[in-house]
Amino acid sequence: MSDYDPVEVTPLHAEEVARMRDEALAAIKAAADLDELKKVRLAHAGDRSPIALANREIGALPPQARAEAGRRVGSARKAINEALAARQAELEAERDERVLAEETVDVTLPWDRTPRGARHPLTTLQERIVDAFVAMGYEVAEGPELEGEWFNFDALNIAPDHPARSEHDTFFVESADSGMVLRTQTSPVQVRALLSRKLPVYVVSPGKVFRTDEPDATHSPVFHQVEGLAVDEGLTMAHLKGTLDRFAEVMFGEGIGTRFRPNYFPFTEPSAEVDLRCFVCRGASVMPGGEPCRTCKSEGWIEWGGCGMVNPRVLVACGVDPKRYSGFAFGMGIERTLMFRYNIGDLRDMVEGDVRFTLPFGMEV
Ligand SMILES: [Zn+2]
Repeated sequence: MSDYDPVEVTPLHAEEVARMRDEALAAIKAAADLDELKKVRLAHAGDRSPIALANREIGALPPQARAEAGRRVGSARKAINEALAARQAELEAERDERVLAEETVDVTLPWDRTPRGARHPLTTLQERIVDAFVAMGYEVAEGPELEGEWFNFDALNIAPDHPARSEHDTFFVESADSGMVLRTQTSPVQVRALLSRKLPVYVVSPGKVFRTDEPDATHSPVFHQVEGLAVDEGLTMAHLKGTLDRFAEVMFGEGIGTRFRPNYFPFTEPSAEVDLRCFVCRGASVMPGGEPCRTCKSEGWIEWGGCGMVNPRVLVACGVDPKRYSGFAFGMGIERTLMFRYNIGDLRDMVEGDVRFTLPFGMEV
């Protein structure tokens, strides 16, 4: 035993090996999760761990002591490795259980995460307008957006050489002599209604119309009009005025009437512009506090549309006897109505499809 160095082989003493093993087992037991266990494994079972270093010392022992030391260290390493494996399995099971619990679908959470859309305010306004007339006994009439020139112009007393024909910035289809246009107004629906329905006729026709306008804050190449037509025996301008006053009240409140200003349209005679009494200042043109009314720009009235008694030439073109029947017609822009009704400054906001514009109008269905 002369070459036996007690200092060098201290790590191989039974008490020392037992201490290393017990420290390792305690650390393994204390490891709270897999990350900690990984560190414990490195510290107590890795290549640089005390037990691994002790193992290397075995070779330094005298041959007769090696077997005993080898068994001691081997059994300690086995105990450590078994404890590591057991703790590993325990912690993995805990992790799996936790992941399962965390990833469980909570059936009590709200199921609909898709934001709901809102109907476009033009659509809802159009329906409210139509409802107002249906309540007065009108029927809804519709016509094609691709329209014959005869319906769009000729039947409405707008002959080919009529100045109004060129004032309508018309989209022609294919060629100018195809006879087809994108309708520039909803008035051709009046012609179709007179040709296809039995008299008397009371119809309201909302729809898209087309003009070759450059889009800007107040113009769009596609916009909406609503048009009304009544043809019956004995209809006068008083009926027209009463109808539009009632319409204005339904849309803007009691006491909000209309006024007529003389104008010219080829398909009505006489013709008038329709102004709406300002529904904000109620015609006073100033607000109760004295500041000017912005809605009517201090006019007290808001330009709304056009109207008139149906020109007898239109009645004749539609096969109606103007000696027996008379009628009135009126029309207004739906975008324009929406703009002043809700103080919208730019028409383009209506067509850009941004729900942030649409949502404040509510979720009407
Ligand atoms: Zn006003």
